[in-house]
Amino acid sequence: MRVGPGWVVRELGVELLPGGSGSKPLNYGISMSRGDLGAVRSATGVAPEAVSAMLLSVYDGTVLDLSPLGRGPAGGPGMRGAWGLFRGSRCCPACVMAADGAWRLWWRLGGAVACPEHRVLLHGWCPRCRLPLRRNWGWLMLAPFPANGLSACMNRPGGSRDVCGFPLAELPARPATAEVLEVQDLYLRAAAGQVLRLAGKEVAPAGWFAEMSQMVALARWAGPRELPGLDALPGHFAQAWRDDHAAGEEQRRWLWRACPLSPELTAALLHVLSPVFRAAGEPEFRDAASWLISAAYRRRFRRDRHSLADPALLPPFTRRAFMTSRHRGNPKVFLGKFLHPEPALARQGLTAAHVPCYVNRDDVLEQVTPHLAPRRGARPGGRPQRRFAALCLVMMVSDVPTWDEAAEMLGLPPLTTNSNPAGQLLIADLLAFREGLIVAGNRLVERGLIDYRARRTALAGLTELPAADWAGRPAWSKPERYDRGRVFAAAWIWSEFTGGRYDESPAWAAHPELSASATPTTGPSGFYYSWQLKMGSARRDWLRSWGARYLEDRKCGSLAPLCGQSLRAVRPGRGRS
Ligand SMILES: [Zn+2]
Ligand SMILES: [Zn+2]
Repeated sequence: MRVGPGWVVRELGVELLPGGSGSKPLNYGISMSRGDLGAVRSATGVAPEAVSAMLLSVYDGTVLDLSPLGRGPAGGPGMRGAWGLFRGSRCCPACVMAADGAWRLWWRLGGAVACPEHRVLLHGWCPRCRLPLRRNWGWLMLAPFPANGLSACMNRPGGSRDVCGFPLAELPARPATAEVLEVQDLYLRAAAGQVLRLAGKEVAPAGWFAEMSQMVALARWAGPRELPGLDALPGHFAQAWRDDHAAGEEQRRWLWRACPLSPELTAALLHVLSPVFRAAGEPEFRDAASWLISAAYRRRFRRDRHSLADPALLPPFTRRAFMTSRHRGNPKVFLGKFLHPEPALARQGLTAAHVPCYVNRDDVLEQVTPHLAPRRGARPGGRPQRRFAALCLVMMVSDVPTWDEAAEMLGLPPLTTNSNPAGQLLIADLLAFREGLIVAGNRLVERGLIDYRARRTALAGLTELPAADWAGRPAWSKPERYDRGRVFAAAWIWSEFTGGRYDESPAWAAHPELSASATPTTGPSGFYYSWQLKMGSARRDWLRSWGARYLEDRKCGSLAPLCGQSLRAVRPGRGRS
């Protein structure tokens, strides 16, 4: 059958734009309306899903934003920001020759730069007619396609009637680097709608693409001179980048945020940015991009034509990298901006109910303390640091906006008297601090989640041990002098099972005389400490099993893990600093 494609679409009955000598389907090759898909189905029997799979719109919402797509000519001005080739395609000549001349849909994505199979760069231009490959303006010719139509350049330069005809097999093979293939693989997985990992976190495809395209834009804007170790970059990459940068700086309106036009330039930018996308954590992500961040802050106040946007408008990973960079100059950053919910923790089932009032001391010493610059007198891994870590973790798993609400989640009174628990702390690196909290949160999950809130509720009425039970306690070697033993025992059990401090227990609250002591050193706290210290292991075990039974009776089962100080870290030192 030798029929021009223009006739085919006419016969199918899809909607055509008026005018011209060929046929011009609306948004040709990009998207089709429901009505057009229906028309194709009734004319050919091909299912709408099968037709949709051949259109760029399958990538809409992942690595392509087609929302500005209107009824005008395909790829109009509104689409400049979108990373798609709306009027042409790239190609791997070897693939075209090897297959039956099939052109891949993904070659029309802006991030399509290399063939993973043949490990060569894709071509974007025809060397003979000097036009983008498969350039079309949405017109479909009424004349039949030549026999070699899929493996030769079909452009009609300057509106001529004759096709260029350059055989694609003659395009040179240019090796693609492993770095380029690595980043493009991530990009194509995002395009396919997969959830990816960026800086150790799971991100939706559109989120990954937002960071990736932003980094590419920044690298393009900064130029090759900013890159440390530029000499190691393959020559053709450096050249493409240099040419683009020089041409861009000349222009009055340089669209450096738009999709880079040539696969060579895009490949060069992906290559130099590969360490950023490979980073295992956010501090590493930031460090890998530090040459860009440094350039951005250095030139920020240079009043030139191509000024940068406010970092506040950057996508989240890039923004956090900017905000915590040493190049920023201004050390003031709001801690709250770094305690946003962490989906990876929530997915594992960690909620505010599972966070103890004080995070495990070893975890805090290892993961939190190193990032804090405490004021004088603060003990590393001490109570304030452990509580602070607990409050931060609550914010990261529950989306509460204030410290007071976080405290409420932990069953603590409002912190109004001391409204900002971070007030006494300076955090040197907020990104590293956040990563440390995530590790601490993961440890809670690894040890088995404990519903501390349920335990607090179950123990709320335990203000002293019943006298009958207390009478059956293991005896001490010396006669007991403390008349408050039953209250202390209740406080001890509360502390052991909830991870809280004895003086925050219901037992303490029910006996105000304990807190009202004028002399703290010899007062009830002192008594409690010595009482607790002298208590032997037999007494401790007895109290512990009494508490476990008490919880079980209140349907707060699981004898399993205790918490607080008596528990050592299950996996000490997993080699994070
Ligand atoms: Zn190929
Ligand atoms: Zn050509």
